[in-house]
Amino acid sequence: MKVTILATGSDGNCIHIQSGSTGILVDAGKWKRDLEKRLLARGINASQDIQAVFITHSHNDHIRGLTLAKKYHIPVYATHGEWQKIGGVDEELRMVLETTFGKYDPVCIGDFHIYPFKVHHDALEPVGYAIEDDSGNRACVVFDTGQVDDDMLELMEGNIYIVEANYDQQMLQDGPYEEYLKERIISPDRGHLSNDQTAAALQKLIKGCGERIYLTHLSSTNNNQEKASLAVRMALFEKGLLNRKHYFMEVVTGA
Ligand SMILES: [Zn+2]
Ligand SMILES: [Zn+2]
Repeated sequence: MKVTILATGSDGNCIHIQSGSTGILVDAGKWKRDLEKRLLARGINASQDIQAVFITHSHNDHIRGLTLAKKYHIPVYATHGEWQKIGGVDEELRMVLETTFGKYDPVCIGDFHIYPFKVHHDALEPVGYAIEDDSGNRACVVFDTGQVDDDMLELMEGNIYIVEANYDQQMLQDGPYEEYLKERIISPDRGHLSNDQTAAALQKLIKGCGERIYLTHLSSTNNNQEKASLAVRMALFEKGLLNRKHYFMEVVTGA
């Protein structure tokens, strides 16, 4: 399973995941032209290597390049709630993530089985995704969320983790943001994950069998690579796990 982080951070998020002949995007948060350039630079052919786009939520940094889907005629998947705030996608390309007894139905695209799950953020119906391929790989993508609950942990478990580490608690507290914004970011129901929250979740998930971790969506104001990396490495070190020996971690900024 090949993961390409085309963009991440508050200026835009977009990930390409490929396995065999199946490729998907999770989010399309840079303008279309910019996304096309990034795809080209990474050798990804927009008309062949993207069978679907999966949207986590309708904030601009996750959807502003969705005209890409229109241009290349790619189906776009999002929840009922998030579609209420997403425009500019042709009716025939709008795919709704359905639920049965409160759980999202899996979606099958080529070699992938995709499992959406509920996250906690100030959007109408935001989700994360677990993506399984036919070779036994399982990647999860968890962007904006104020917490990682037990239901999420259960679905996230796999061998590839693409998770936000949005802010360092101290940097946010001491930083320039208005009080209401700080409160929103910290909120477990509407906010983002701190480095410590991400580290605590990964401490529960990582077993040390060579998992790949991508820390993403770092705030450029309230976080930096060193702090995010250190928080996770320390949490995993408590379990006796070392980076580049038991797991492989990359902190991705901008991309
Ligand atoms: Zn958001
Ligand atoms: Zn975001």
